[in-house]
Amino acid sequence: MRSEPASYVGRFAPSPTGALHFGSLLAAVASYLQARSVGGRWLVRIEDIDPPREQPGADQLIIDILAAFGFEWDGPISYQSKSTTRHEALVDQLLATGIAYACSCSRRDLANAPRGPLGVIYPGSCRKGCLSGETSIRIRTHDEPIQFVDAAQGPQSQRLESESGDFVIKRRDGLIAYHLAVVADDFDQGITEIVRGIDLMDSTPRQIYLQQQLGLSTPQYLHIPVANNDHGQKLSKLTGAEALSAACPGNTLLSALRALRQEPPGALTGANLESIWQWAMEHWDTAPLRGLKSIPARQFGYG
Ligand code: GLU
Repeated sequence: MRSEPASYVGRFAPSPTGALHFGSLLAAVASYLQARSVGGRWLVRIEDIDPPREQPGADQLIIDILAAFGFEWDGPISYQSKSTTRHEALVDQLLATGIAYACSCSRRDLANAPRGPLGVIYPGSCRKGCLSGETSIRIRTHDEPIQFVDAAQGPQSQRLESESGDFVIKRRDGLIAYHLAVVADDFDQGITEIVRGIDLMDSTPRQIYLQQQLGLSTPQYLHIPVANNDHGQKLSKLTGAEALSAACPGNTLLSALRALRQEPPGALTGANLESIWQWAMEHWDTAPLRGLKSIPARQFGYG
């Protein structure tokens, strides 16, 4: 068993953009086992702050499938949209210190801006003031490397100014951007370690930077490999990933454990969920995930 403080708090934070699929199940299982294997708490937070991308009723589909798979969360499920006042206050705090600024650049204005692996690298056009009208709020970045050691993927480093540029914390449509909301809520909920898919690892330095600017502590991070379909694309609603079925959750859970490189014994085939979870909590080991970037979902019956 890992020795972690008894105060471990983990979380699963799905966006209600559709039903859970095998890829999202892996993040739920890994975050749950990482918490429960040390007797820690595990929270579920629905990240419903981007209505244009959401699907009505997806939150309930997600909650029902988590329950059908036997996940037991601590406390009530939280909804990120309930924290908007807090998020707005943090944006105001950053504006007041002068590190955040209004930006009137539209997508079209940025059409010729340089692009990197993270997308458009904001050229800083509005750093010294911008035209009025509709604005987003950006945070000023610098090029001192932001570094962290990921528990599965090892040391990571990013230079924000040249790799992403000043990034948006409040969108032109008035919605709070993901990076700000996730940092605020993880801190407010006392999350000690964030376990999520490696597709979000590139976002982590921007989130650590926000924590630093807001004076919030930085949790530990563990990014698990992403489940890919036969075309090497991440399983997602966009790539047509199949919704998880509540039928035979034990078999699906065993497949998820195998995909996460655990080795549940054959004797667990057909066993009840409780026995599978018990085995998984007792044997959970992240060592086989070290350096692993992707999982071919087809090998485990999905994709
Ligand atoms: N809500 C995000 C998603 O569903 C995950 C956020 C996170 O784990 O930090 O992709």
